[in-house]
This record gives sequence, C-alpha cells and structure tokens, in this order.
Amino acid sequence: MEQVDVIVGGGGMVGLTLAIALAKGGLQVVVCDPLRPETVLDAAFDGRVSALAYSSVRMFQALGLWQGLEPHAQPINDILVTDAGLDRPASPFSLHFDHREVGVPLGHIAENRHIRAAQFAGLCDGVRLIAPAALTALENDGGGILATLSNGDQIRARLAVAADGRASPMRDAQGIGVVGWSYPQTGIVATVEHEKPHRGVAYEHFLPSGPFAILPLPGRRSSLVWTEDTRIAPSLIAMDEDDFNAELHRRFGAHLGAAHVAGPRWSYPLKFHLARAFVRPRFALAGDSAHGIHPIAGQGLNLGLKDSAALAEVVLDAARLGLDIGALDVLRRYERWRRFDAFTLAAATDGLNRLFSNDIVPLRVARDLGMGVVDRIGPLRRFFMRHAGGEIGKLPRLLKGEAA
Ligand SMILES: Cc1cc2nc3c(=O)[nH]c(=O)nc-3n(C[C@H](O)[C@H](O)[C@H](O)COP(=O)(O)OP(=O)(O)OC[C@H]3O[C@@H](n4cnc5c(N)ncnc54)[C@H](O)[C@@H]3O)c2cc1C
Repeated sequence: MEQVDVIVGGGGMVGLTLAIALAKGGLQVVVCDPLRPETVLDAAFDGRVSALAYSSVRMFQALGLWQGLEPHAQPINDILVTDAGLDRPASPFSLHFDHREVGVPLGHIAENRHIRAAQFAGLCDGVRLIAPAALTALENDGGGILATLSNGDQIRARLAVAADGRASPMRDAQGIGVVGWSYPQTGIVATVEHEKPHRGVAYEHFLPSGPFAILPLPGRRSSLVWTEDTRIAPSLIAMDEDDFNAELHRRFGAHLGAAHVAGPRWSYPLKFHLARAFVRPRFALAGDSAHGIHPIAGQGLNLGLKDSAALAEVVLDAARLGLDIGALDVLRRYERWRRFDAFTLAAATDGLNRLFSNDIVPLRVARDLGMGVVDRIGPLRRFFMRHAGGEIGKLPRLLKGEAA
C-alpha cells in the first residue's frame, strides 16, 4: 500500500496550491479528484474569473506558478464603485481606488481555467495527482489515516485534507456541520467584448438586486459578475442574444463604447456557509469546504489560498520539528489562525451585500454618505486597498512571497 505524508481530496485551485506548497517543503503528497484535468481546463467548464489579491499573486510567485499565469492575467489599476438604480443615475458619491496610492496593482484578474492550467503545469516532484478518482472514505486508526479512492486505490497518510468544495462530502463524513444559508441571488457570469480599452479599471455598480461587477481581462474584454434576483436570473440566462445585450446595456453603461456578450453565460447559486470546525484528528478542511462567501468582494478564492498557505506553514513547521503533522494540537494552530479570519470576512461580505442590494431610501443615503466619506479620507481608502490586497492580519510566509 502506498504511504505518503498528506492526502488531499480535491484538485481544485485550493487543493492544488496546498499540494504544491507541501511538496516544495519536502513532503510526499497525493491529490485526487473525480474530474480529469482536460475537463476542468475546457473553456465550457467554468466561465468564472478570479480577482487575485496581491498577496495571492506573491504566493504564486513563491511557488513558481506565476510565470505561467502572468501572460493571462490583467493587472487592476483602478476600482470605481458606484451606487445606482436601473432607472436612476449613479449617485454622485462614488468611490475611486487608485493603485498609484499603494504603489502596486490592486490585484490581477485571471480566468479560472488559466489559473488551473498554471497549477497543473506547476505540479512538482513530491505531488502525485490521481484523476479521475474521488476520495470515498477515511479511516483514522490513531497512527495514521487510511484513504479509500473510488478507483479502488488505498493510500495511507499522516494527514488528510478535504479541499473538495462547498458540498464537501468529506466534511459531512467527518460529522462537521455548517452554519449557512442561500442568498435570494444568482451570480450570472459572462465575457463581454467592448470597443474601447478598459485601461485596467474594474467597476462595481451597486444595483438594487445586487452588485454588477465588470472585471478587466487582457485585450478589449471584461468579465461580468452580475448578481441578480434568483427569480429573474433564469429568464435572463434563457434570453436570445439581442435581448440579453439590451439588458446588459441598461446596466453596463456606455463608458467602454459598443459592448456585447461573447460566448456562453453561466449561473451560480450564491450561498453562505462556515464549517463549525476546521479540523479533526488527522483531518483538516481548506477552501470552500470550510467556508463559502458572497462574491461581492471577489475574496472567496483568496480566502482559500490563505488557508492553503497557513496550513502548509503549520504542517511544515511541525514536520521540521519532528512532530506528528496529523496531531490535533498541531492542526488546532491552523484552525485558530484561519477560522476567525474566515468568519470575519464572511460576515463583512454578508453585511455589505445586505446594505447595498436594495433600494431602501434611508439605507441608500447612509451608504452613499459612507462612500463619500471613504473616498475623501486617504488613510481610510488606503486601508480598504490594503484589505482587498490581502495585506491585513497575520500573513503566512507564502503570502509574503517567502518559502513556506
Ligand atoms: C460567481 C462567483 C464569482 C467568484 N469570483 C471570485 C473572485 O473574483 N475572487 C475570488 O477570490 N473568489 C471568487 N469566487 C469564489 C471562488 O470561485 C471559490 O472560492 C473557489 O473556486 C473555491 O475553490 P476550492 O478549490 O476550494 O473549491 P472547488 O473549486 O469547488 O474545487 C473542489 C474540487 O474538489 C473536487 N471534489 C469534490 N468531491 C470530491 C471527493 N469526494 N474527492 C476528491 N475530490 C472531490 C471537485 O471535483 C473539485 O475539483 C467566486 C465565486 C462565484 C460563485
């Protein structure tokens, strides 16, 4: 039977990053996933892009993944935030974040398929990817954990990590519950081609049904993350192209010249959840298996990447000291580090969504005034920019660009 240090269930963007970080630190890792790499790299699989915080970019640099991704990543130079109604012009109190104030891009936008491609290309010695194969059972016998895969393989490890997404069958199998709810909103995702260059500007228009984000991509293209009332979203998805483009123009505006949707539209139900525990003896959760947040601030993946950086650091520090990497007191360090941070961001994004996704006049006045205040106070603006860049809180070494 194969014996490794860590088995990671889930070869998504969080699971692969963790596996590479652990292997670069000298551990033997197996990652398994029911989906083949060819499937998840197909342009039709996942239309989403990710706004990568600057700290996540530094981690990709430290892991040698950035070289492959950089040609496909668009730096964000400015972020413009406005509050508007569908038939009401944008409030005069908009918010402008300018990268020149902090000296680095406010993040990078990359299509998820390019992030995954850079990760598959970056798999290094010490990582073995088994796909297609799901993790189906974990048995902790005290001295180790026995993982059974859907292809019949059995692998013994000192630690198992579930990076198996929001439905996380492994979290359920370990009896870890979640606190969570569904938002009455759906995320519609599509790529838009436009006449004028975007100059690296990302826009977030707060509309009554939810945020409407326009994220710049390389070339004259942008990605839409259009949060819509779940009762209306299916009819938008089903519209013919002319009608969809007409709805798009009502929200998109004319600042980028003529614009039209290019390629398919995707829809994602939006949910909030936080696992009641992140660890068990010889077991840890990372990424969406541990938390799922509203995409209003584009931070879900960044949060998961921070999990993988923190878990890699805690596990590698323990291994260097000759400690048992699956011991509960080692894993609790990771839980203490990450669970409160995840809770804080999840609560903040939930609050922002509630504050902005409505047309209630007193709330509208309050948020417009709030935006006006932040826009006028430099240190406050810079605090928000540092936050969006993932610079707040205790940073794992990888997020500072150092080796784990
Ligand atoms: C509309 C939308 C826009 C978003 N935009 C952003 C953004 O701009 N920036 C950002 O930071 N985040 C964003 N997010 C969030 C981000 O997409 C997720 O947080 C991220 O994809 C989670 O990655 P993951 O690897 O944890 O999970 P997943 O991507 O779900 O990967 C889980 C993997 O586990 C595998 N798996 C499932 N079951 C098993 C099993 N039994 N055994 C083994 N493997 C298994 C699956 O096949 C899958 O490959 C957005 C989310 C949405 C919905």
